[in-house]
Amino acid sequence: ALAAFEVVAPLPAVAARLGSVRASGARLFDVLDTESAIGGTDSAEILPEGDLALKVRDLRMRYGTDEPWALDGIDLDLEPGRRIAVLGPSGAGKSTLASVLLRFRDPDGGTVELGGTAITAYPADEIRRAISGVPQDPHVFASTLRENLRLARPGCTDEELWSVLERVRLAEDVRAMPSGLDTEVGSHGTRLSGGMRHRLALARALLSAPRILVLDEPTTHLDPETRDVVLADLLDAARGCATLLITHDLTGLSEMDRIYVIVAGRVVQQGSHAELLGTEGWYRRAHGLASR
Ligand code: ADP
Ligand code: MG
Repeated sequence: ALAAFEVVAPLPAVAARLGSVRASGARLFDVLDTESAIGGTDSAEILPEGDLALKVRDLRMRYGTDEPWALDGIDLDLEPGRRIAVLGPSGAGKSTLASVLLRFRDPDGGTVELGGTAITAYPADEIRRAISGVPQDPHVFASTLRENLRLARPGCTDEELWSVLERVRLAEDVRAMPSGLDTEVGSHGTRLSGGMRHRLALARALLSAPRILVLDEPTTHLDPETRDVVLADLLDAARGCATLLITHDLTGLSEMDRIYVIVAGRVVQQGSHAELLGTEGWYRRAHGLASR
């Protein structure tokens, strides 16, 4: 199933909505029509400037009243400047959590607070000004690289684009393309590798200067040999933002301040890499360590 915050709109639909997306200063993810999944957003509440702590308490969400809980009472904290991971098997609820944090869906119970206020008090656009997500399977629009990037910040200059491309280590690849930033990508253009798509999506996310970055499975489509390097690059590029890494593989977890292990919508373990390796449970087993 597609993650709720995946961008799936075809280009004409994007173009049609671009006006309003730009006018509201909203983000790329807004092109997905999810209005029905969230409650009214009449309020024009504005998030405070500066650092924002993210606090999740007893969060519950299900996709229908006959469905099991996809999130079954999640507690989690992300302090400014920190990095946390949400680790768990496929179907555990990781992408669902991301979609609730980005306000593509509203929870059925519990709270998500940003800077001490429930996110449901803010319009979705406002939440996505503070929290940027890189979806599991980032979409590349059939257009030029420049347009793909500028969707995130329409007014930005080529100089700013090159600077963010350097930051995500994509500049060299783009310079090597005959048309550079004018290279057509997407359905009929240059095919980008999985790693390049993720770097492009991260560049897009960083252009909007988020305070919190949510990376959903950035290493899934990569060879095991390149995972470490790409993830290290992504985390390095994200320095300065609080980062939530969603993953089902064990790459890069020693770099995280805290790891939440999620199984069937519940946090079953949490702690640092070292703490979890020293504790009986899911994490040790996932690392192939015998019980002690
Ligand atoms: P993960 O990202 O950890 O693999 P998901 O958050 O995608 O897990 O899914 C959690 C549970 O919710 C799974 O049982 C999945 O089948 C279900 N689910 C996910 N998206 C939808 C959806 N759009 N409609 C119905 N059920 C869904
Ligand atoms: Mg997922």
